[in-house]
Amino acid sequence: MGAKNECPLCKSAANHTNSGVLSVWWEYACPRCGRFRMDGGFVENMLLRPETYEGKLHLLSGLTKTHFLRTGKPLMLTHDHLEDQLASALVPRTPAQCVDRLILNVRYMSREFGDEVELKVRRDWPVAFAQGPKEFESFIGQVVAE
Ligand SMILES: [Zn+2]
Repeated sequence: MGAKNECPLCKSAANHTNSGVLSVWWEYACPRCGRFRMDGGFVENMLLRPETYEGKLHLLSGLTKTHFLRTGKPLMLTHDHLEDQLASALVPRTPAQCVDRLILNVRYMSREFGDEVELKVRRDWPVAFAQGPKEFESFIGQVVAE
């Protein structure tokens, strides 16, 4: 069981646990970003140098969500590997790639191809690496138009 807390990536209410006395990592269960972990360096930098993550938080939300949808396991975010993690092939670079990622992630959200999947604009925008609900709606519009 974890304590109620705020997701450091998307600011949604999220459950929060840590690895124990030494707090080697912190784990969050966020309705938007999925389950993910942060190591001490990541947490420390978020507190002391938040500008490091400016403009990158929605990409991290998308990455943790995608990893959790694909594997069912939490991704460990580490400050030392932040740039490598953001350079992952899972992270889309263009709006067209965001739309592709949306389609692939919806596939991971369904048990079988063709199953109905409920997407909530205010909750599920990390599924497309969108910056928020408005951009997510425009990506959904692209899928519907295709
Ligand atoms: Zn979150």
